[in-house]
Amino acid sequence: MDRTLFEEEHALFRETVRKFMTREVVPNHAQWEKDGIIPREIWKKAGDLGMFAMSVPEEYGGIGITDFRFNVVVIEEIIHAGASGLGFGLHNDVMAPYFIDLTNDEQKARWLPGFVSGELITAIAMTEPGAGSDLQGIRTTAEKDGDDYVLNGQKTFITNGINSDLVVVVAKTDPAAGARGTTLFVVERGMPGFVRGRNLDKIGLKAQDTAELFFENVRVPAANRLGNEDGQGFFQLMGNLPQERLSIAVVAVAAAEAVLTETINYCRSRQAFGRNLGSFQNTRFVLAELATEVEIARLFVDTCINALNAGTLTPVDAAKAKWWTTELQNKVIDRCLQLHGGYGYMTEYPVAKAWLDARVQTIYGGTTEIMKEIIGRSFGF
Ligand SMILES: Cc1cc2nc3c(=O)[nH]c(=O)nc-3n(C[C@H](O)[C@H](O)[C@H](O)COP(=O)(O)OP(=O)(O)OC[C@H]3O[C@@H](n4cnc5c(N)ncnc54)[C@H](O)[C@@H]3O)c2cc1C
Repeated sequence: MDRTLFEEEHALFRETVRKFMTREVVPNHAQWEKDGIIPREIWKKAGDLGMFAMSVPEEYGGIGITDFRFNVVVIEEIIHAGASGLGFGLHNDVMAPYFIDLTNDEQKARWLPGFVSGELITAIAMTEPGAGSDLQGIRTTAEKDGDDYVLNGQKTFITNGINSDLVVVVAKTDPAAGARGTTLFVVERGMPGFVRGRNLDKIGLKAQDTAELFFENVRVPAANRLGNEDGQGFFQLMGNLPQERLSIAVVAVAAAEAVLTETINYCRSRQAFGRNLGSFQNTRFVLAELATEVEIARLFVDTCINALNAGTLTPVDAAKAKWWTTELQNKVIDRCLQLHGGYGYMTEYPVAKAWLDARVQTIYGGTTEIMKEIIGRSFGF
């Protein structure tokens, strides 16, 4: 089916992003996978091309266009390039709303120009060793002390954890107040007591830095709190999660499409029993089923993208998009790997890397089980 989501300006932007990926990213990504991290200069180069946070108003360095379809172009081109290590999605899709919508004018002036230029890399630190799905169970605390807060605690699995300059940290300001006792703080690189742990060794997303973070009596000025008062953090997080989940769903569909296309080509050329793989009915049926499901997923996700732009994407619809497309992504890539035979198990084949990269998609941003809880609760049980 023809895709109706994009307009001329998105196609032009796509050309720019694709050139950037071809020139700057593709030739280097294998090395970055060995290094376990992306060099900071690449963030700056992407920033120079206007790839970050277009919705930032002009006075703060952006161009003031609020249209998630530009984010979608960046995500799709990253997948097209096989560049799963770029943590741009976290910065652009997940963190931008925190820095644009939850900041006051002084904070905007301090942080947004660097956010847009790629000089300030961002991260969000919710998860702790003892609390992931159960976010209300976090133990990091922020105690008020004069004009500062004193932050203590530990976070883990933080994307951009090593490269980040600004980390939005979720902390309890009133541990007895449940959801109403949580506040968000921006912790900056170099603040005394802010210590980075290991760059964690993952099974996939090899070039992406994912780290533990420690906060040992970190004095965070009240000027770095997001929001006018304490206790808003949980609700601020809930407000931004639908966009994060949709971004993951966009990755899922793009990754499934890319592997499917590559597998169809593979099945055209690989011979067995004197015929190409595509001549077996099983191959055609498997690919036919997967192609149908991916197209259905694409239509649902594109509808969600339009809803996000219109301000009508609900948390329940975002949860549906997230769990269904990421489970589908894993299924599609697994079946495609099978069609590659032994070559599919070799990491030099794109399908093998895609299989390893896909596995986390049903886990981060809220697990499949938690997404089903969100949807299930909407029935009023
Ligand atoms: C590569 C990577 C990057 C990440 N990036 C970030 C990041 O940038 N920032 C950040 O804050 N976090 C990040 N995370 C953390 C991620 O969001 C959590 O791992 C995820 O939310 C699950 O939490 P958990 O690992 O503690 O698992 P748990 O919550 O311990 O869950 C374990 C299992 O129990 C199931 N479960 C839990 N509760 C329920 C329930 N109520 N009903 C049914 N089943 C349930 C889960 O679905 C899961 O299958 C990242 C994780 C990874 C692996």
